[in-house]
Amino acid sequence: MHSSTSTSSLWRPWTPITQQANSLRIVEAQGTRVRDAEGKWYLDAISGVLNMSCGHGHPRLIEAANRQFEQLVHYDPMVSSHNPAETLASRLAETLPGELNEIVLLNSGSEATEAALRIALQYWRNIGEDRNRVITFEAAYHGTTYLAQQLSGLPFTASEWAPPFPIEHISLPAAPCEMRTEESADALIELFAKALETGPPAAAVMVEPLLGLGGCVVLPAGFLTRLRKLCDQHGALLILDEVFCGFGRTGRMFGFDHDGITPDIVTLSKGISGGYLPLAATAVTSTIKQTFVREPIAQGLRYGHTTGGHAVASAVANTVLDIMADEKLVENSAAQGATLLDGLQKLVESSPLVTDVRGLGLVIAVETDTEESAGAIAEAAAQAGVMTRHERGVIRIAPPLTLTADDTAELVGKITGAADTAAAAQR
Ligand code: PMP
Repeated sequence: MHSSTSTSSLWRPWTPITQQANSLRIVEAQGTRVRDAEGKWYLDAISGVLNMSCGHGHPRLIEAANRQFEQLVHYDPMVSSHNPAETLASRLAETLPGELNEIVLLNSGSEATEAALRIALQYWRNIGEDRNRVITFEAAYHGTTYLAQQLSGLPFTASEWAPPFPIEHISLPAAPCEMRTEESADALIELFAKALETGPPAAAVMVEPLLGLGGCVVLPAGFLTRLRKLCDQHGALLILDEVFCGFGRTGRMFGFDHDGITPDIVTLSKGISGGYLPLAATAVTSTIKQTFVREPIAQGLRYGHTTGGHAVASAVANTVLDIMADEKLVENSAAQGATLLDGLQKLVESSPLVTDVRGLGLVIAVETDTEESAGAIAEAAAQAGVMTRHERGVIRIAPPLTLTADDTAELVGKITGAADTAAAAQR
């Protein structure tokens, strides 16, 4: 018999959510601010789900969506093309480096992972090589579909079901706070090298340029350059998941831009549409795509979604690219991110609860001594009017890329104050 629940959680993710999340109702948002049902405004230090990169209620995005709604909402991508998706695909291809010219438009980051893996595995079949082993980080998060979930070795996301192909998980050789040293870079590369050298030839290595859900782990500078070389030596495809890092989040357009490398496959979502509509993309090189178009029919992969390349979502994404250029959001992410990181790093000295502060651009992790400390700081920050998110002792700060200098100063002040409040309460 149907019974209503007091938490009315039917639409919520099927994962443990915080006590705050059960009582908080966000009802309105504007710029870098969100308002709850009680009328209280917060500085949004998490950009929704890290996707509201252009801020909330951006008039140009609302206008672009409305205009496209009136003109054409969507049409079957199997029988026709339309301008917004075509424009978006070619603009993404222009923005991405090298040969990453083939764009599959999708709806979520998980779908982008799914497409990336299926394309990578099918590629090897297409060229007649028997490769299906995938190497990834244990602390990875690439989504929640069956294949995507297999890639995560994190205890809170790992799948109980056997993967349909061999997956090798690489553990971090040091604690997240020690991952920026040269020794860590060497140790990490050695682990990937060993995984590539032993066992059957790998089909692909798939990593995030910065481990997002795995604890906002900033990987050592130059790591991706060395990983690219390793993949080339062993003939494995390099797949980079830019769902979290892409579109300016780390202070460069893409996370891999810090190393100046070109992957073989890239997954994109979140910031692609500024969070205004569901949208994702998987970009692959022309070399890979060519293997799928042998006559008489496209070989191996039937791929397409009803709403893939949705016209309104694509129109919004095109305007996101315009806004990013006009408002210099990548540059702002780098500049405000550096100031924010500098301000918050003082907590390592001043707060007995904070053990590490790390970040890149506008994604910053404040690591605490315990899960309780993280909860207490996040709670005090919310009281002071700053919305953060914390997981396993790490507070994540990733505000919209439109963050102003005043917002940055407010964030540093209020999070520092929240750390003081939490420490005083523990004394
Ligand atoms: N990859 C990464 C790096 C992510 O952070 C996420 C979402 N947090 C995903 C993939 C999955 O995206 P989605 O939730 O849109 O399926």
